[in-house]
Formats: sequence, C-alpha cells, structure tokens
Amino acid sequence: MKLIVVSGGVISGVGKGIATASIGKILQEYGFSVTAVKIDPYLNYDAGTLRPTEHGEVWVTDDGGEIDQDLGNYERFLGFQISRRNNITTGQVYKEIIDKERRGEFLGQTISPFPFIPNEIKSRVKECARRPDGGEYDFVIVEIGGTIGDYENAPFLFAMKSFEIELGKDSVTNMLVSYLPVPPNVGEMKTKPTQQAIRMLNEHGIFPDFVLCRSTEPLDDVRKKKIETYANIPSDHIISAPDIKSVYRVPLNFESQNLGYKLMKLMNVMPRATPDWSKWKELVENIENPSRSVKVAMVGKYVSTGNFNLSDSYISINSALSHAGANLGVGIDIDWIDSGKFDNGGSDVLDGYDGVIIPGGFGGSGVEGKINSIRHARENGTPFLGLCYGMQLAIIEFARNVCGMEGAHTTEVDPQARYPVIDVLPSQKAILKNKEYGGTMRLGAYAAVLEKSKVLDAYSSGRMKTDMKIAGLIRKSSPFRLGILNEGEPFVLERHRHRYEVAPKFIDALKKGGLVFPGFHRRDDGANLMEFIELPEHPFFVATQAHPEFKSRLDDTAPLFLEFVRACVD
Ligand code: GLN
Repeated sequence: MKLIVVSGGVISGVGKGIATASIGKILQEYGFSVTAVKIDPYLNYDAGTLRPTEHGEVWVTDDGGEIDQDLGNYERFLGFQISRRNNITTGQVYKEIIDKERRGEFLGQTISPFPFIPNEIKSRVKECARRPDGGEYDFVIVEIGGTIGDYENAPFLFAMKSFEIELGKDSVTNMLVSYLPVPPNVGEMKTKPTQQAIRMLNEHGIFPDFVLCRSTEPLDDVRKKKIETYANIPSDHIISAPDIKSVYRVPLNFESQNLGYKLMKLMNVMPRATPDWSKWKELVENIENPSRSVKVAMVGKYVSTGNFNLSDSYISINSALSHAGANLGVGIDIDWIDSGKFDNGGSDVLDGYDGVIIPGGFGGSGVEGKINSIRHARENGTPFLGLCYGMQLAIIEFARNVCGMEGAHTTEVDPQARYPVIDVLPSQKAILKNKEYGGTMRLGAYAAVLEKSKVLDAYSSGRMKTDMKIAGLIRKSSPFRLGILNEGEPFVLERHRHRYEVAPKFIDALKKGGLVFPGFHRRDDGANLMEFIELPEHPFFVATQAHPEFKSRLDDTAPLFLEFVRACVD
C-alpha cells in the first residue's frame, strides 16, 4: 500500500477534496488502481443528520452510506463506487472503541486515547485499501478534513505519521493544500500563512513533500522560493493551483507541472500506462467555452447562511447537469429559485426557462410552490425532471389536477390527506411506531425493472443491465438491493434516500389519468415500489424516486440528465 496524505492549511474550503480527487485521477491515468478516504474530525457518526444548508449535500453510496459530500468528488473524478467505510469520522472511531471496551474485548487494559484512537484510525484506513475483489489498491489517498491546527485533527495526523514507520518513508507522501491570499489593499500574494501552516504541520512530525498553493492567481518564482526555503523542499514540488473555471481542469493543471511524474519518482514506482487526456480535455473545454447554452430553473428550498447561499446543497445535480452539457456541447445556466415564491401562484416566471428541475427534499415548506412549478412545466410542455421528492410532488400534482383527487398529498406533509397518494408502506408503519426512524429509510442502490418507455431508451445507452449473471455477481460482492429479477429483464441500479413511497392503492387511478410508471423495484416480499414516472405526450416529463445525480461522471453522464438537457436544447 502506498499512502498519500492530503491536509489543508490556512482556511477550510480551499479545495482539498478536488485536489485529492485530481491526484487520484492522475495516478489512474498512469495505470494505477486508486482509492480515496475522507477523514472528518466531527463527532457525528455519519453525514446523514447534517443540515445540507450548513454542510452541503449528503452523499449517498451504493451500500447505503450517508456520507460527506466531498466523497462525491472522488466518485465523479475516479469513476468507481466508493463504500461508506471510506468516510471516517471521530464519532465512528470513538464509538467502536467504547463498544469494544463495553464488550470486554480489551481484557482489563486501560484504554487511553493514544495509541488506541490512532490505531483504530489506521485499521480503518487499511480496511479501505482492500478492493472488492480481495486485492489491494496501489494507492490510498487520505484527505484530512478541517485545517491544520484544529485541535480535533491531532489523532488523525498522529495516525498518518505512524504509517511512515509501518509502511516505510518511500510509501508515504504528505501533501499540504494551502491558501495564499492576495489582499486587495496590498495587491501582493502573501506566503506567510502558508509558512505558518507548514510549521504547524512540522509540530506533528510531518514534513510536506509537496505544497499545492491555492490562490486567485498563479504562483510566481519569488513566492515559490520563499516557500521552498520554509518547507525545505525543492521548488518544483511547490505546485501552483490558481482559481480556474472548471474543477475538472485541476488534474490537467497539475499535470502541466508534471505532478504525476514527480509523485511516482518520489514514491519509487514506474508508470504502468501512458495517460490519454484527450477526451477529458475536450469535455473540460466544452464546459469552459460552450457555443450556446440553455437556462434551467432549479426550484427548491433554499436557506442561506448569513449572506451566503449554499448552492452546495445540490452539488451533485449541478455536476450532473454540467456533465450533460459538456457531452452535448452546451453550457447550462442554472437559476436556483426558492419555491416559496410560487406557493400562491406566479410560476409564469418559469416561461423564460428551457427546463425545470425539482430536486429532493424533506418537509412541508415551499411544497405548494414546487407543485405549482410542476403544473406549469406539465401544461406548457417545458422539459421537467423530478428527483425523489420531485417525483412524489409530480404525482401529487397529477392526482390533484388531472385525476380530480382534490387535496391529494403526501402524508409527510398532511397526515390526514383525503388522497394520501404518497405514504409510508404498511411494513414501515410498525417500525415508525417504535421511533426507529432510521430503519424506515430506503438507502443505497436498488434495482429498478424497466418497461418500454423513454426512460428505458435513455438508459439503453449503456447503463442498463439484463444479464442475471452480472446480477448474481453483484449480489455476491456488494450490498445492492436487487429484489426479484426475472431472467433477461432489463434493470438499472440507482441510489435512494427517502422514506415515503407511491401508495399502491392509487396507482391504477393515476395510470387511468395517463401517467406512465415505466420502472419499479420488485421487493423480495413481492411488493412493487414505483421508481419512475413519465408522460408520453409531453416533450420530456420524467421523474424518478431515485437520485441518479449520484452516479453521474464527466465521462459517463447520468442518462436522465443527458436526455433532459437534450430536451432543453430542442
Ligand atoms: N421527503 C421524501 C421522502 O422521505 C423525499 C426525500 C428526498 O427527496 N430525498 O420520501
């Protein structure tokens, strides 16, 4: 196992996640297998309970993990399916040790934080080094959340340091991602905070092998020299990482400074393949300089923290749209519109848009505004994509305004609804009674059987599976929920994070009204859970109970996003 540790200096949010993902992408291009681990020093067990407006979106893994959104960048860049175990939090580490202690597994020893905490951290990192097929990844990149100098970082830095003895110095590389401010009143790039970050890292016995210098502008030789002296590393290990238009340019920028080659040399490995960036480059150029663009309204619940509006709460949807745009050669202008504005009508504003997206969400605020927006898109032939709550609300809109079910609703918002078209299933109700809320969520990847439809056509481009042998393999090696699949039946695997379902007793009435349900999950107990809806006469009116945005990559766009953007262009 070769280990690369990425830590951050000066301020948070400098792009450690993108840097980590980009280093991984470069090593993949040189023919290595790579995995990435994110350490979050918070006490939350996972990100499932974190407020998205404060912490960004919650990332859902195939194996049902609700983890930090940074791991989404790892999947987007590295193209593989990350496991929930790749997100390590302080909460998990302490819980594991305390649980073991309670079970008497330490046989009377005194459990002091050091070395027990770092040892647990190390064993978790080593666990991540194992590939699903039993082998080991060539490189494990560990990103340490937060900023050097945070009190809660110490056990993680201690653990990473001790890997140097266990694996050998050659096998461990330390990278510091730092920030160099250019104060407007001075007009000069300042290296002092970076010097201090290096010093703080040194206090943990860690000497960075590379410093990645984030700034608004490229680094000049004078600044490089200063950092070289301070970090005591050759100036060609000081990498300039200025702000750029698209995050997908970051690996290209690093490679223009030969980072991959320098890294391999330092870690004593020879390249196994010759990188081919041509396709990636073309897609990045499409993002940066689109010849035309479409305007998409994303109607959601937006709460700002102070003066800052966190579009990070929908980062995967933004990314999936930009992947679709890159592949079709169009730019995507997204307007985030607060659905509360349309609670009492006024959705005519949407006339100016080429498409409407209703993202996932929870609770009652702004729900009527979202329903009004869906009606507007349905009646005016505007391309519409509904994601999770977006599908549930599209069904409510259709039930109310087409099928005459006045007062139709989800029991999440109106437990007494006359037509509870979205509801918890009877099997969930007993669990909810015992307040085991977590146990009633549908989390992770589920198979959806597809019938002839626009949705099936969209997926036919490559994501669809029909081979039960593949399914058999999937069943053995990972925790996909396949349910019942018949031989030869086309199915797709998409990720879920929701509690409510389309209520089975209303499906016939909705179908009679003209709504098509082209895909469903056939649960092991025989119950069918609706996964997709579409309106055949509409240019593009598609919604899904899943979150296909979690499986979109720049070079492998989620099919529904691709078709949605194509419809917007048309
Ligand atoms: N609130 C809805 C549910 O729990 C939808 C969740 C979502 O959009 N992720 O079923």
